[in-house]
Amino acid sequence: MNPLRDIPAIDALLGWPELAEAAAPLPHRRAVAVVRREVAAVREEVRAGGALPDRGGWVARLAGALAVAARPNLRRVVNGTGVVLHTNLGRAPLDRESLARVREVAAGYSTLEYDVAAGRRGSRREAVAELLVEVTGAEAAYVVNNNAAAVLLMLDALAHDREVVVSRGELVEIGGAFRIPEVMAKGGATLVEAGATNRTRLADYQAATTEATAAWLKVHQSNFRQVGFTGQVAVAELAAAAHARGLLCLEDLGSGCLVPPAELGLAPEPTVAEAVGAGVDLVTFSGDKLLGGPQAGIVVGRRALVESLAADPLARAVRCDKMTLAALEVLLRRYLEADGWRRVPTLRMLTTPVSTLAGRARRLAAAIQRVAPALAVSCRRVEARVGGGAQAEVALPSVAVALRHPGRSARELEAWLRGGEVPIIGRIDGGELLLDCRCLLPGDGKVICDRLAPLVAGGGDQGS
Ligand SMILES: *Cc1c(COP(=O)(O)O)cnc(C)c1O
Repeated sequence: MNPLRDIPAIDALLGWPELAEAAAPLPHRRAVAVVRREVAAVREEVRAGGALPDRGGWVARLAGALAVAARPNLRRVVNGTGVVLHTNLGRAPLDRESLARVREVAAGYSTLEYDVAAGRRGSRREAVAELLVEVTGAEAAYVVNNNAAAVLLMLDALAHDREVVVSRGELVEIGGAFRIPEVMAKGGATLVEAGATNRTRLADYQAATTEATAAWLKVHQSNFRQVGFTGQVAVAELAAAAHARGLLCLEDLGSGCLVPPAELGLAPEPTVAEAVGAGVDLVTFSGDKLLGGPQAGIVVGRRALVESLAADPLARAVRCDKMTLAALEVLLRRYLEADGWRRVPTLRMLTTPVSTLAGRARRLAAAIQRVAPALAVSCRRVEARVGGGAQAEVALPSVAVALRHPGRSARELEAWLRGGEVPIIGRIDGGELLLDCRCLLPGDGKVICDRLAPLVAGGGDQGS
């Protein structure tokens, strides 16, 4: 007997009343495609020796697949990882006012490239350039899609077919495809390495410089740290020496902080204003790292150079959109208010005192214990991270709610939390599932409790 013959037809399956509700949100064609895919998978499993599902098995499997197909692919999650700028989870969350402005600008028409006073075409640079100049002290500013694009544009506009000297200690890979040597190549610049991996002196930059050199580039070490016998040239010294030779001094600051890191409890690193003040000609940084805004790449520095970037053909290809500009404008205005940074969600999360987090963890633990008495719930001191390739060495003291289930492993618990309507992303440590409270946002506690409530002691939980 061939069990494959007993696989129901696609239309028959979709006609089952038990699947009507799961199929309803999807257009018929989509539902057919989902069922066809599942049937094909079952056929493979049966061929490989697996059992054919019974009717209940089919219903559970297809209802699950239809539900997954019906929900948005890009949706919110609860960040219980303790990594504040989690690149995989979208980095910096925006505040309500920024979102309201994005909505206003995106839902209708806007002044994006229109000069209302003159009644004619304007420039999309106007929205934030002046604010950036004010918060950084630079002469001029330009915004593109992200910092990788900013670096690429800078090299293309200022160093194409020329040489750029970079310390061997700063040939960073940020993640994925962004490696400084490769970005250089794409920008048409020839990379000339200076110094050694652990130490680079001014004399090394001098020795690596030729007639063809356009610039000395400094790159923030971002996501790694060197310890021991190390040294890099201070940026003020580098800028002065570059200028003395008629060269440009450029800096990819990576995260780019506007607030002195000490105020945020972070390790010392130059703020954007300090880099500009040190004489760097152009500084690039991200919009959605320590700045706490939308994804963007920001370039600030000398006016003539910024104009070269704006005039480069690549500028159009890497420009950022109106929603980004709307959110960025709100953010930059905030930085201009006294202590306004305290209202930037990312910076607020970074600076929440551990005592506040302990209270939050206690309340969350109690709420979880109420709805899911089968779980063993406790609070644990943990270390949160800045993330986003920023401040790699800094451990932020934090508090997590730690969960154990009598009938499930930490791994199963982790998968259960991830599998809900709003995925909850935690981490496993010492056999416990940890939900770090540092990055939890208002409303997350309820999501967590709702997801954990069906968990009963034996593991035979209600629903999936
Ligand atoms: C993060 C980072 C980048 C890339 O920035 P994106 O905004 O993610 O494109 C480039 N350079 C450095 C040093 C970084 O830390």
